[in-house]
Order: sequence, then C-alpha cells, then structure tokens
Amino acid sequence: MDCRKGRVKIRRKYPVLHDIFGIKLTVLDRVYVCERCNAVSIGWHRVAGHGIRLDRAYRAAIQAPTGKEIRKRRKALGLTRAALAEAVGVTEDKIASWERGVIFSPEDNARLKQALKLA
Ligand SMILES: [Zn+2]
Repeated sequence: MDCRKGRVKIRRKYPVLHDIFGIKLTVLDRVYVCERCNAVSIGWHRVAGHGIRLDRAYRAAIQAPTGKEIRKRRKALGLTRAALAEAVGVTEDKIASWERGVIFSPEDNARLKQALKLA
C-alpha cells in the first residue's frame, strides 16, 4: 500500500520486481507509482495478465515445464499421476495441481524433470 500522501503517477513498462521461491524476477507492466513513497500498484484489470507474464518469466528462469507439458510427458512415459507423484516424492494432488498450471519450487522442478527424464 502507498502512503496516500503522494501523487500517484502512471508509469508504462515499469520494472515490477518479484521474488518467487527465492528467484528474483522483473516483469514490465503499466503501473501506478506513488511519487512520495514509490509504492507500486497495479490496476485490477491488469492483474491476470501480469500473473501470466510472471508465470512465464519464472518458468523460463528455472526451465520448468508448463502444466500441459508435464501431462503430455507423463502420458508419453506411460506414468499415472500416482506413479509420478511417488517418483517425485509429492502427493498425487500436487501433481494434479502442477498439471493445471500451479507453479512449483526449483527443488520440485529438479525432481520432476528427473522423473520425467527431461533433465
Ligand atoms: Zn505513497
């Protein structure tokens, strides 16, 4: 939240910093910046698009497969979700969530890629 005392300016292509599982990422977006405290906020209608770009940046940074890629690869290897979950050391629900597009830690990514023979 901003201090509510400064003028808020619209900034285009502003580098918004994120930290996901310790990975530092910058996503450019059109945001509002308080001239006094530098607090950054984003219009609610832009949040979804920002999230998608952040998701892409994170996956690119750790070279993680997308949910669709995980599912496709798992099936190509003839693995059930339960078998993949066992190999990665997580629950079946977790594998299902990754296949729906939920992101995962760099450590889970390393184990997942090994299990899918992508590493
Ligand atoms: Zn402020």
